[in-house]
Amino acid sequence: MPKTILIDTSRCTACRGCQIACKEWHELPANKTYQVGWGSHQNPQDLNPNNYKLVRFSEHLDDGVVHWNFFPDQCRHCEIAPCKETGDLYIEEAIVQDEKTGAILYTPKTKDFSKEQFEEIKDACPYNIPRRNEMSGLMVKCTMCNDRIHNGMPPACVKSCPTGAMQFGDRKDMVKLAQSRLAHLKKDWPNATLADPDEVNVIYLLIDKPENYHEFAVAQANIGPMSKQQFLATLARPFK
Ligand code: SF4
Ligand code: SF4
Repeated sequence: MPKTILIDTSRCTACRGCQIACKEWHELPANKTYQVGWGSHQNPQDLNPNNYKLVRFSEHLDDGVVHWNFFPDQCRHCEIAPCKETGDLYIEEAIVQDEKTGAILYTPKTKDFSKEQFEEIKDACPYNIPRRNEMSGLMVKCTMCNDRIHNGMPPACVKSCPTGAMQFGDRKDMVKLAQSRLAHLKKDWPNATLADPDEVNVIYLLIDKPENYHEFAVAQANIGPMSKQQFLATLARPFK
């Protein structure tokens, strides 16, 4: 039974505890950041090799009322991962899926992908997640804290969340919890929805339209989480 993280954005206060806990667990260095001025408290401005998790801020006006949305962005650990499917076309087992947890993991072999192959893998991800450490050549992203899970602990981000916005457990339990929270929130937030719950193991519960969070809040493809490019590449893959 794969593991799943449920992120209930209605409970997120954008404290960024999860963002920092992720950096601490993975011993990632600080970035040089800067204040971008009015309009966003997001910092840094995007995912990067030192930030596998990023709390995105967005602001929009609706009938004269200002709405702030917070979105703790990270890899969704897709059930059938387009990044892995694309990577397997070039180097088998450079990107693997843990059979027990369902986590999609980038191995040291990812440094052998060429620049063009990396760009193709990145483009295949419907959520714009993979990044490359230019110093080491390794591809990087959230690991679901697979090492912690195998030692009986939840991911560091989940452990750090003070509001209960992040929950972790067996997929069937998290899907049940997501559906129950959705039904509850729908009463006050008619646009509430679950982002691609059948395809991913990091499920977001949104209370606003996905486009009011950020461009990649839901998969940017018409065929589930697999991009058109990746779908065609998979069809062209030789049978084994
Ligand atoms: Fe790969 Fe992107 Fe899916 Fe994460 S969200 S498993 S990087 S395709
Ligand atoms: Fe939101 Fe929880 Fe992350 Fe804080 S720790 S930003 S409340 S998800």
